[in-house]
Amino acid sequence: MKVAVTQGSGQPLAVVEHPDPSPGADDLVVRVDACGICGSDLHLAQHVDLPGLVLGHEFCGTVVATTSAAFHDGARVAVFPLAGCGSCAFCAAGYLAKCANYQQLGLHRPGGFAEYAVVPASSAYRIPDHLDDAAGAMVEPLAVAHHALDRTPRPPEEPVLIIGGGPVGAAVALWARHRGAREVVVSDPVEHRRTLAERVGATASIDPSRDDVASEFARLTGAAPGVVIECVGNPGLIQHAFDVAATDAHVTVVGVCMVPDAISPLVALNKELSVQYVLYYRRADFDASIAALAAGSLDASALVTGTVGFEAFADRFAGLAQPTTDCKVLLTPHLA
Ligand SMILES: [Zn+2]
Ligand SMILES: [Zn+2]
Repeated sequence: MKVAVTQGSGQPLAVVEHPDPSPGADDLVVRVDACGICGSDLHLAQHVDLPGLVLGHEFCGTVVATTSAAFHDGARVAVFPLAGCGSCAFCAAGYLAKCANYQQLGLHRPGGFAEYAVVPASSAYRIPDHLDDAAGAMVEPLAVAHHALDRTPRPPEEPVLIIGGGPVGAAVALWARHRGAREVVVSDPVEHRRTLAERVGATASIDPSRDDVASEFARLTGAAPGVVIECVGNPGLIQHAFDVAATDAHVTVVGVCMVPDAISPLVALNKELSVQYVLYYRRADFDASIAALAAGSLDASALVTGTVGFEAFADRFAGLAQPTTDCKVLLTPHLA
């Protein structure tokens, strides 16, 4: 089978042949139908020297072989890309990312940038036939966004300020509107991101390179933001969230900042802010995403701005590390 592998930090992905996989006990072999490219995939390929990795953790596929009685060939599944020990309290709560022995498909085990992937049966979530492959691949990023809101202990109708209109921020905007937020305002200096955020549910957007975010949010909604969700991860943005938040506000940090980042605790203290950092998602976030997609009440199709087969995959992947008008791009390994 064809797979895309890393070649070491800063090197392009290489498409190579690997042996077709076979399932171990309680495994499925899944034909990968669509696999999203995540910012974390770009980061690993660019900055981490781990040659030979098959990345990709946002995927859905069709079961082609199984040793599990719970699945049959031909079943369509979205893949929960984390595995845990199965016996600790975190695993019992569906929070596999907090398990001391967690492993991620697309990092510790081969992922979805491949024609076929081995998936533990406990990680496979059935999706109905009326959901297309793009929706199946969006289950994982939607679970990230759902989890961020789930960890934001405020009434769902409360106005929300989302910092960043990339794939994560746009997915948070989509879910926030779905959950009933009266106002969803996305702040991003890039025009096409503001436009996309408004297409998927933001009621307004702010260009922070032009307007003062706090006063513009107050002008749009009548008050300073009581909920701020940071979805970028660049240095300075947690402090920015503190600066623009209302007194008593809740700040949820989804963006992954990989470098030390100075914050002023006094700003947060003076406003008595609560700050919640979030990690991946729980199983319940996968269930919620699949249910809302299946019911047709959540439509993530606008977030998918491109699909690519293996021929052009390495180039398209590299292009996403540059300034781009794309949001989510999917590898469709079996399509040209
Ligand atoms: Zn991801
Ligand atoms: Zn565990």
